[in-house]
Amino acid sequence: MANLRVDILTLFPEMFDAVLNSSIIGRAVENGILEINCVQIRDFAFNKHRQVDDYPYGGGQGMVMQAEPIYLAYMSVCEGLSYKPKTIYLSPQGKTFRQSTAKRLSKDKHLVLICGHYEGVDQRVLDEIVDMEISIGDFVLTGGEIGAMAVVDATARMIPGVLASEACFSDESHFDGLLEYPQYTRPSVWHEREVPEVLLSGNHKLIEEWKRFSALKNTFEKRKGMLSRAKLSKKDLEMVERLKKN
Ligand code: SAM
Repeated sequence: MANLRVDILTLFPEMFDAVLNSSIIGRAVENGILEINCVQIRDFAFNKHRQVDDYPYGGGQGMVMQAEPIYLAYMSVCEGLSYKPKTIYLSPQGKTFRQSTAKRLSKDKHLVLICGHYEGVDQRVLDEIVDMEISIGDFVLTGGEIGAMAVVDATARMIPGVLASEACFSDESHFDGLLEYPQYTRPSVWHEREVPEVLLSGNHKLIEEWKRFSALKNTFEKRKGMLSRAKLSKKDLEMVERLKKN
């Protein structure tokens, strides 16, 4: 059994093909760590034209996705389960998705992601089945598919075995409330720009110190607000004081 099963309810399953079958996520699926199923909501529209949307009550722009096809698609996923999978509606009105959200979701066994389209979804089906709403930012997308891809990608890479080791993500931006230090690879000189000397020194203690200082510096320069929320040691705080004085 996979560590995490994700069912994505969508009107556009083909959008997921390239993204979720390639690279690291594709490999996790191949290795059986991750199971992803896209469920076509339209398959649960039992009317002549397989229509899934209708005009909004009270008037207004655009069309609204009807409750019943989404509900039936959801019930098809739940068939035979003895538990309720965590059910998430991608929505610009949801809680902003963060690294900490991904970390939490990676510990779940089964997620159902609902992608809205058009003007959104009939509120009643959301009230009936949804456990949380997630937004991927304060902007409005055409549909929830891109948000669902972001949620699956960020969550899956935190499952043990998906990346080579935990260090692959524990060093990264946002994991411990800081941005990551700058990265360099060969050649050591490019367009007369040199890699910081310490990284070529082989001195692991000095390299670790440089990485920590550079992470604090990056965060201080790009996202100062994050520093007040991050867990900082006494030594970190001294480094931040040094940055403030410069
Ligand atoms: N009328 C809705 C509103 O104002 O809240 C917006 C509907 S939007 C055009 C269509 C669908 O895109 C939504 O149902 C949702 O699933 C998805 N969506 C749009 N923006 C999103 C965001 N920032 N994060 C996650 N999903 C989003």
